[in-house]
Amino acid sequence: KSVAELIAAGEVIERPSSVIKELVENSIDAGARHITVEIKHGGISYMRITDDGCGIAYAQMPTAFLRHATSKIRTGDDLTGIMTMGFRGEALASVAAVAKIEMMSRQDGDELGGRYIIEGGEEKEHESCGCPTGTTIVIKELFYNTPARLKFLKKDISEGNFIAATVDRLALSHPDISFRFIRDNKSVRMTSGDGSLLSAAKAVSGRQFADSLIPVDFSLNGIDVSGYVSSPLFCRNSRSMQTFFVNTRYIKSTTCMAALEEAYRNSMMVGKFPACILNISLSPETVDVNVHPAKTEIRFAYEKPVFDAVYFAVKNALVNAAD
Ligand code: ADP
Ligand code: MG
Repeated sequence: KSVAELIAAGEVIERPSSVIKELVENSIDAGARHITVEIKHGGISYMRITDDGCGIAYAQMPTAFLRHATSKIRTGDDLTGIMTMGFRGEALASVAAVAKIEMMSRQDGDELGGRYIIEGGEEKEHESCGCPTGTTIVIKELFYNTPARLKFLKKDISEGNFIAATVDRLALSHPDISFRFIRDNKSVRMTSGDGSLLSAAKAVSGRQFADSLIPVDFSLNGIDVSGYVSSPLFCRNSRSMQTFFVNTRYIKSTTCMAALEEAYRNSMMVGKFPACILNISLSPETVDVNVHPAKTEIRFAYEKPVFDAVYFAVKNALVNAAD
Protein backbone atom coordinates (compact mmCIF):
# COMPACT_ATOMS: atom_id res chain seq x y z
CA LYS A 1 0.00 0.00 0.00
CA SER A 2 1.26 3.43 -0.80
CA VAL A 3 1.61 5.98 2.00
CA ALA A 4 -1.01 8.10 0.28
CA GLU A 5 -3.48 5.24 0.42
CA LEU A 6 -2.80 4.59 4.08
CA ILE A 7 -3.29 8.26 4.84
CA ALA A 8 -6.56 8.33 2.90
CA ALA A 9 -7.69 5.25 4.85
CA GLY A 10 -6.82 6.94 8.13
CA GLU A 11 -9.09 9.84 7.31
CA VAL A 12 -12.16 7.63 7.07
CA ILE A 13 -11.09 5.07 9.66
CA GLU A 14 -9.97 6.83 12.78
CA ARG A 15 -10.72 4.10 15.29
CA PRO A 16 -12.68 0.84 15.66
CA SER A 17 -15.98 2.68 16.08
CA SER A 18 -15.53 4.32 12.65
CA VAL A 19 -15.30 0.82 11.14
CA ILE A 20 -18.48 -0.22 12.91
CA LYS A 21 -20.31 2.92 11.75
CA GLU A 22 -19.30 2.47 8.11
CA LEU A 23 -20.01 -1.26 7.98
CA VAL A 24 -23.35 -1.06 9.78
CA GLU A 25 -24.36 1.75 7.42
CA ASN A 26 -23.56 -0.62 4.55
CA SER A 27 -25.82 -3.24 6.15
CA ILE A 28 -28.58 -0.65 6.48
CA ASP A 29 -28.14 0.38 2.83
CA ALA A 30 -28.35 -3.33 1.93
CA GLY A 31 -31.85 -3.47 3.41
CA ALA A 32 -30.97 -5.58 6.45
CA ARG A 33 -33.71 -6.32 9.02
CA HIS A 34 -31.33 -7.84 11.57
CA ILE A 35 -27.79 -6.65 12.27
CA THR A 36 -25.43 -8.22 14.78
CA VAL A 37 -22.26 -6.48 15.89
CA GLU A 38 -19.71 -8.45 17.85
CA ILE A 39 -16.44 -7.07 19.19
CA LYS A 40 -13.54 -8.26 21.27
CA HIS A 41 -10.98 -6.09 23.07
CA GLY A 42 -12.62 -2.83 22.11
CA GLY A 43 -12.79 -3.98 18.51
CA ILE A 44 -9.05 -3.66 18.06
CA SER A 45 -8.43 -7.40 17.75
CA TYR A 46 -11.84 -8.49 16.44
CA MET A 47 -15.04 -7.03 14.99
CA ARG A 48 -17.83 -8.88 13.24
CA ILE A 49 -20.88 -7.45 11.50
CA THR A 50 -23.55 -9.85 10.29
CA ASP A 51 -26.60 -8.76 8.34
CA ASP A 52 -29.48 -10.32 6.44
CA GLY A 53 -29.40 -7.74 3.68
CA CYS A 54 -29.21 -8.19 -0.08
CA GLY A 55 -25.67 -9.60 -0.09
CA ILE A 56 -22.92 -9.08 -2.65
CA ALA A 57 -22.66 -11.14 -5.83
CA TYR A 58 -19.61 -13.40 -5.96
CA ALA A 59 -18.10 -11.54 -8.91
CA GLN A 60 -18.60 -8.15 -7.21
CA MET A 61 -16.68 -8.97 -4.05
CA PRO A 62 -13.25 -7.72 -5.21
CA THR A 63 -14.86 -4.61 -6.70
CA ALA A 64 -16.48 -3.73 -3.39
CA PHE A 65 -13.00 -3.24 -1.92
CA LEU A 66 -11.81 -0.89 -4.64
CA ARG A 67 -11.75 2.79 -3.81
CA HIS A 68 -14.67 4.74 -5.27
CA ALA A 69 -16.21 1.56 -6.70
CA THR A 70 -19.54 2.18 -5.02
CA SER A 71 -22.64 0.43 -6.27
CA LYS A 72 -24.55 3.48 -5.13
CA ILE A 73 -23.31 5.54 -8.07
CA ARG A 74 -24.80 8.94 -8.38
CA THR A 75 -24.43 12.00 -10.46
CA GLY A 76 -23.11 15.29 -9.14
CA ASP A 77 -26.72 16.36 -8.68
CA ASP A 78 -27.50 13.33 -6.56
CA LEU A 79 -24.61 14.16 -4.27
CA THR A 80 -26.47 17.18 -2.98
CA GLY A 81 -29.55 15.12 -2.17
CA ILE A 82 -28.02 12.13 -0.47
CA MET A 83 -30.38 9.66 1.15
CA THR A 84 -28.42 6.40 1.44
CA MET A 85 -25.87 6.35 4.24
CA GLY A 86 -22.82 5.49 2.16
CA PHE A 87 -21.99 7.26 -1.04
CA ARG A 88 -18.26 7.59 -1.43
CA GLY A 89 -17.21 4.03 -2.08
CA GLU A 90 -14.37 4.52 0.37
CA ALA A 91 -15.23 2.56 3.48
CA LEU A 92 -14.38 -1.02 2.52
CA ALA A 93 -11.23 0.03 0.66
CA SER A 94 -10.11 2.07 3.65
CA VAL A 95 -10.72 -0.67 6.20
CA ALA A 96 -9.10 -3.27 3.97
CA ALA A 97 -5.95 -1.14 3.70
CA VAL A 98 -5.38 -1.19 7.46
CA ALA A 99 -6.77 -4.53 8.67
CA LYS A 100 -7.31 -8.18 7.88
CA ILE A 101 -10.79 -8.80 6.53
CA GLU A 102 -12.83 -11.86 5.82
CA MET A 103 -16.17 -11.40 4.08
CA MET A 104 -18.83 -14.00 3.43
CA SER A 105 -21.86 -13.06 1.43
CA ARG A 106 -24.69 -14.58 -0.53
CA GLN A 107 -27.47 -12.98 -2.52
CA ASP A 108 -30.97 -14.36 -2.26
CA GLY A 109 -31.51 -16.83 -5.12
CA ASP A 110 -27.82 -17.71 -5.51
CA GLU A 111 -27.12 -21.29 -4.58
CA LEU A 112 -23.66 -20.53 -3.28
CA GLY A 113 -22.16 -17.45 -1.77
CA GLY A 114 -18.59 -16.21 -1.71
CA ARG A 115 -15.80 -15.98 0.75
CA TYR A 116 -13.26 -13.21 0.28
CA ILE A 117 -10.14 -12.52 2.29
CA ILE A 118 -8.19 -9.30 1.95
CA GLU A 119 -5.30 -8.19 4.18
CA GLY A 120 -3.57 -4.83 4.03
CA GLY A 121 -5.35 -4.20 0.72
CA GLU A 122 -4.16 -7.46 -0.84
CA GLU A 123 -6.53 -10.18 -1.93
CA LYS A 124 -5.66 -13.49 -0.23
CA GLU A 125 -8.60 -15.68 -1.11
CA HIS A 126 -11.77 -15.65 -3.20
CA GLU A 127 -13.81 -18.82 -3.31
CA SER A 128 -17.37 -20.09 -3.42
CA CYS A 129 -18.92 -21.25 -0.17
CA GLY A 130 -22.25 -22.04 1.37
CA CYS A 131 -23.54 -19.30 3.69
CA PRO A 132 -26.81 -17.66 4.73
CA THR A 133 -28.34 -14.85 2.66
CA GLY A 134 -26.71 -11.59 3.60
CA THR A 135 -23.24 -10.56 4.57
CA THR A 136 -20.81 -11.28 7.38
CA ILE A 137 -17.63 -9.25 7.67
CA VAL A 138 -14.92 -10.05 10.19
CA ILE A 139 -12.21 -7.46 10.78
CA LYS A 140 -9.11 -8.58 12.63
CA GLU A 141 -6.07 -6.68 13.84
CA LEU A 142 -7.11 -3.18 12.92
CA PHE A 143 -4.08 -0.96 12.19
CA TYR A 144 -1.70 -3.96 12.31
CA ASN A 145 0.33 -2.34 9.52
CA THR A 146 0.12 1.24 10.82
CA PRO A 147 1.72 1.15 14.29
CA ALA A 148 1.42 4.92 14.72
CA ARG A 149 -2.38 4.69 14.40
CA LEU A 150 -2.50 1.73 16.73
CA LYS A 151 -0.58 3.61 19.38
CA PHE A 152 -2.98 6.53 19.14
CA LEU A 153 -5.95 4.35 20.16
CA LYS A 154 -7.26 4.47 23.70
CA LYS A 155 -7.59 1.51 26.04
CA ASP A 156 -9.84 -1.39 24.95
CA ILE A 157 -12.57 -0.31 27.34
CA SER A 158 -12.77 3.24 25.90
CA GLU A 159 -12.73 2.03 22.31
CA GLY A 160 -15.44 -0.49 23.25
CA ASN A 161 -17.49 2.32 24.78
CA PHE A 162 -17.19 4.37 21.57
CA ILE A 163 -18.49 1.35 19.66
CA ALA A 164 -21.35 0.85 22.10
CA ALA A 165 -22.38 4.50 21.66
CA THR A 166 -22.16 4.11 17.88
CA VAL A 167 -24.35 1.00 17.89
CA ASP A 168 -26.88 2.73 20.19
CA ARG A 169 -27.17 5.69 17.81
CA LEU A 170 -27.59 3.43 14.81
CA ALA A 171 -30.26 1.46 16.69
CA LEU A 172 -32.10 4.64 17.72
CA SER A 173 -32.03 6.05 14.20
CA HIS A 174 -33.33 2.75 12.76
CA PRO A 175 -35.98 1.39 15.14
CA ASP A 176 -37.30 -0.79 12.32
CA ILE A 177 -34.08 -2.83 12.31
CA SER A 178 -33.25 -5.29 15.07
CA PHE A 179 -29.77 -4.69 16.46
CA ARG A 180 -27.77 -7.02 18.63
CA PHE A 181 -24.46 -6.07 20.22
CA ILE A 182 -22.09 -8.64 21.67
CA ARG A 183 -19.10 -7.36 23.61
CA ASP A 184 -16.41 -9.76 24.80
CA ASN A 185 -18.79 -12.74 24.51
CA LYS A 186 -21.62 -11.01 26.37
CA SER A 187 -24.80 -9.88 24.64
CA VAL A 188 -25.14 -6.33 25.95
CA ARG A 189 -27.80 -4.83 23.70
CA MET A 190 -30.80 -6.04 21.75
CA THR A 191 -33.45 -3.93 20.06
CA SER A 192 -36.64 -5.48 18.76
CA GLY A 193 -36.81 -3.79 15.39
CA ASP A 194 -40.57 -3.33 15.89
CA GLY A 195 -40.37 0.18 14.42
CA SER A 196 -41.09 2.06 17.63
CA LEU A 197 -38.51 4.64 18.70
CA LEU A 198 -39.75 4.36 22.29
CA SER A 199 -39.06 0.64 22.42
CA ALA A 200 -35.59 1.22 20.93
CA ALA A 201 -35.01 3.94 23.56
CA LYS A 202 -36.09 1.51 26.28
CA ALA A 203 -33.60 -1.08 25.05
CA VAL A 204 -30.83 1.49 24.86
CA SER A 205 -31.39 3.69 27.92
CA GLY A 206 -33.56 1.65 30.22
CA ARG A 207 -37.21 1.65 31.16
CA GLN A 208 -37.01 4.36 33.80
CA PHE A 209 -35.55 6.86 31.35
CA ALA A 210 -37.88 5.84 28.53
CA ASP A 211 -40.96 6.13 30.74
CA SER A 212 -40.08 9.74 31.55
CA LEU A 213 -39.86 10.82 27.90
CA ILE A 214 -42.14 13.43 26.39
CA PRO A 215 -43.15 12.90 22.76
CA VAL A 216 -42.29 15.53 20.16
CA ASP A 217 -44.00 15.76 16.80
CA PHE A 218 -43.95 19.09 15.03
CA SER A 219 -43.48 20.70 11.64
CA LEU A 220 -42.39 24.18 10.74
CA ASN A 221 -41.64 25.49 7.24
CA GLY A 222 -41.08 22.04 5.80
CA ILE A 223 -38.86 20.88 8.66
CA ASP A 224 -40.26 17.96 10.66
CA VAL A 225 -39.05 17.39 14.20
CA SER A 226 -40.09 14.20 15.95
CA GLY A 227 -38.95 11.94 18.75
CA TYR A 228 -38.66 12.45 22.49
CA VAL A 229 -37.27 14.86 25.03
CA SER A 230 -36.64 14.23 28.71
CA SER A 231 -38.94 15.47 31.38
CA PRO A 232 -37.36 18.52 33.08
CA LEU A 233 -37.10 16.31 36.17
CA PHE A 234 -34.84 13.93 34.30
CA CYS A 235 -32.27 16.38 33.09
CA ARG A 236 -28.66 15.24 33.17
CA ASN A 237 -25.30 16.51 34.28
CA SER A 238 -23.90 16.40 30.75
CA ARG A 239 -25.00 16.68 27.14
CA SER A 240 -24.10 13.05 26.46
CA MET A 241 -27.76 12.11 26.12
CA GLN A 242 -28.63 14.72 23.54
CA THR A 243 -29.04 12.72 20.38
CA PHE A 244 -29.96 14.41 17.11
CA PHE A 245 -30.50 12.76 13.76
CA VAL A 246 -30.90 14.59 10.48
CA ASN A 247 -32.64 12.45 7.89
CA THR A 248 -31.74 9.41 10.08
CA ARG A 249 -28.04 10.32 10.26
CA TYR A 250 -26.49 10.99 13.69
CA ILE A 251 -25.13 14.51 13.78
CA LYS A 252 -23.71 17.13 16.09
CA SER A 253 -25.06 20.60 15.67
CA THR A 254 -24.57 23.50 18.04
CA THR A 255 -27.71 25.04 16.53
CA CYS A 256 -29.86 22.05 17.53
CA MET A 257 -28.31 21.91 21.01
CA ALA A 258 -28.89 25.61 21.57
CA ALA A 259 -32.51 25.39 20.39
CA LEU A 260 -33.20 22.45 22.72
CA GLU A 261 -31.70 24.14 25.75
CA GLU A 262 -33.33 27.47 24.99
CA ALA A 263 -36.73 25.75 24.97
CA TYR A 264 -36.04 24.37 28.46
CA ARG A 265 -34.63 27.63 29.77
CA ASN A 266 -37.21 28.26 32.49
CA SER A 267 -37.93 24.70 33.47
CA MET A 268 -34.41 23.36 33.85
CA MET A 269 -32.36 23.25 37.01
CA VAL A 270 -29.11 25.20 36.83
CA GLY A 271 -26.18 23.13 35.60
CA LYS A 272 -28.41 20.42 34.13
CA PHE A 273 -28.95 19.48 30.52
CA PRO A 274 -32.04 18.06 28.85
CA ALA A 275 -31.79 14.70 27.12
CA CYS A 276 -33.39 14.06 23.75
CA ILE A 277 -33.71 11.72 20.83
CA LEU A 278 -34.85 13.96 18.00
CA ASN A 279 -35.19 13.25 14.33
CA ILE A 280 -35.05 16.27 12.08
CA SER A 281 -36.28 15.65 8.57
CA LEU A 282 -35.72 18.25 5.97
CA SER A 283 -35.04 18.47 2.30
CA PRO A 284 -31.58 16.92 1.78
CA GLU A 285 -30.58 19.85 -0.43
CA THR A 286 -30.49 22.09 2.63
CA VAL A 287 -27.98 19.88 4.47
CA ASP A 288 -24.33 19.69 3.64
CA VAL A 289 -23.52 16.01 4.24
CA ASN A 290 -20.48 16.18 2.02
CA VAL A 291 -18.35 17.20 4.97
CA HIS A 292 -15.47 15.10 6.27
CA PRO A 293 -16.60 11.44 6.23
CA ALA A 294 -15.40 10.70 9.75
CA LYS A 295 -16.95 13.79 11.28
CA THR A 296 -20.47 14.12 12.58
CA GLU A 297 -20.60 17.92 12.70
CA ILE A 298 -23.14 19.10 10.19
CA ARG A 299 -23.82 22.36 8.45
CA PHE A 300 -27.26 23.53 7.48
CA ALA A 301 -27.57 25.78 4.48
CA TYR A 302 -30.03 27.72 6.64
CA GLU A 303 -29.44 27.50 10.38
CA LYS A 304 -32.23 29.81 11.56
CA PRO A 305 -35.21 27.76 10.28
CA VAL A 306 -33.68 24.64 11.88
CA PHE A 307 -33.22 26.46 15.18
CA ASP A 308 -36.82 27.66 15.07
CA ALA A 309 -38.24 24.24 14.18
CA VAL A 310 -36.37 22.51 17.03
CA TYR A 311 -37.10 25.29 19.50
CA PHE A 312 -40.86 25.42 18.85
CA ALA A 313 -41.12 21.62 18.61
CA VAL A 314 -39.59 21.19 22.06
CA LYS A 315 -41.37 24.19 23.60
CA ASN A 316 -44.69 22.88 22.33
CA ALA A 317 -44.01 19.39 23.69
CA LEU A 318 -43.08 20.76 27.11
CA VAL A 319 -46.20 22.95 27.26
CA ASN A 320 -48.43 20.01 26.28
CA ALA A 321 -46.77 17.78 28.85
CA ALA A 322 -47.31 20.36 31.59
CA ASP A 323 -51.07 20.57 30.91
P1 ADP B 1 -20.37 2.82 -0.37
O1 ADP B 1 -21.17 2.37 0.80
O2 ADP B 1 -20.04 4.27 -0.31
O3 ADP B 1 -20.97 2.40 -1.68
P2 ADP B 1 -18.38 1.03 0.64
O4 ADP B 1 -16.91 0.94 0.47
O5 ADP B 1 -18.89 1.23 2.02
O6 ADP B 1 -18.92 2.15 -0.32
O7 ADP B 1 -19.01 -0.29 0.05
C1 ADP B 1 -18.71 -0.64 -1.30
C2 ADP B 1 -19.83 -1.48 -1.91
O8 ADP B 1 -19.83 -2.78 -1.33
C3 ADP B 1 -21.22 -0.94 -1.69
O9 ADP B 1 -21.54 0.02 -2.66
C4 ADP B 1 -22.07 -2.20 -1.81
O10 ADP B 1 -22.32 -2.49 -3.15
C5 ADP B 1 -21.16 -3.28 -1.29
N1 ADP B 1 -21.46 -3.64 0.11
C6 ADP B 1 -20.72 -3.32 1.19
N2 ADP B 1 -21.24 -3.82 2.32
C7 ADP B 1 -22.35 -4.49 1.96
C8 ADP B 1 -23.35 -5.25 2.67
N3 ADP B 1 -23.30 -5.41 4.02
N4 ADP B 1 -24.35 -5.82 1.95
C9 ADP B 1 -24.40 -5.69 0.60
N5 ADP B 1 -23.51 -4.97 -0.12
C10 ADP B 1 -22.49 -4.38 0.54
MG1 MG C 1 -20.50 2.42 2.75
